[in-house]
Amino acid sequence: MQIAFIGLGNMGAPMAINLQKAGHSVKAFDLSKDACERVKAEGAQIATSAEDAVQGAEVIVSMLPASQHVEGLYLGRDGKPGLLTQIAKGALIIDSSTIAGATSQKVAKAAQAAGVAFIDAPVSGGTGGAIAGTLTFMVGGSEADLERARPLLEKMGKNIFHAGDVGAGQTAKICNNMLLGILMIGTSEAIAMGVANGLDPKVLSEIMRRSSGGNWALEVYNPFPGVQENSAATRGYTGGFGTDLMLKDLGLAQECAMSVKASTPLGGMARAIYAAHSIAGHGPEDFSSVIKMLQSPKA
Ligand code: NAD
Repeated sequence: MQIAFIGLGNMGAPMAINLQKAGHSVKAFDLSKDACERVKAEGAQIATSAEDAVQGAEVIVSMLPASQHVEGLYLGRDGKPGLLTQIAKGALIIDSSTIAGATSQKVAKAAQAAGVAFIDAPVSGGTGGAIAGTLTFMVGGSEADLERARPLLEKMGKNIFHAGDVGAGQTAKICNNMLLGILMIGTSEAIAMGVANGLDPKVLSEIMRRSSGGNWALEVYNPFPGVQENSAATRGYTGGFGTDLMLKDLGLAQECAMSVKASTPLGGMARAIYAAHSIAGHGPEDFSSVIKMLQSPKA
């Protein structure tokens, strides 16, 4: 299948590579030359522009940072026409970026008017899951469009859920990431307190992982450097899920909460904590670096 893949960052690059390895013809594009070079080295064809990438594509996968990037790409911005004017009728867009559900719906409506199908398919599982092809996809869209996308999603992920109509995948993803943001802070607090009280971070992490405090961060994403060989923390908080991306998701969660008057006190507090961490200069670092805010000078 001819696939256009737009957005080759920490998540998009390994996802595009997995599609390529599965035997599809992937034409990839990113605004960053370095990002393009990394994917080219794995055998994917690099397009000269997003417009070039979608020529002849039956499926377009996008993995961009935020709502404004997805809306700008497909609907256009600053007087530049959107990519929808270039995509063949009958093609399918799979947008895996984490963005506002309302933006997914807006793009889906415009796509429908252009004869193009659209699903939102945000993911969970981190860069480790993207590399291993074990991501969880949370899909919003019609059953028929999901079934069309499924063979490709299966090459990038292990669990595929149909959350509901377009936008529902984003709602599920935002609920999940609000919980993730909160649990990373809680896990960081506990480890920092234990280490300051003389415990070995590896021993404490293992005790909590096997106890009632066990969670995903303790399993695969420990925020303390050196506890896990492949964690972002051990890599100096590089190459994972940026603090600024988590901050974006917690902002989306607050919008979701306000729209229905939901009470999310911990979600609100988590947003404030990541915002302070970002302002202190840690925005580009992995979000597990939030532990730095919580460590006493002794730890
Ligand atoms: P990233 O910042 O590493 O990569 C985004 C890429 O998009 C960059 O390379 C950037 O140059 C490119 N880009 C931006 N605008 C573009 C455009 N108009 N055309 C082409 N390329 C463009 O981000 P990421 O970590 O890969 O995350 C991507 C999305 O996935 C975000 O919405 C994020 O919230 C979500 N997500 C990330 C993780 C994670 O662990 N990193 C996990 C799940 C979901």
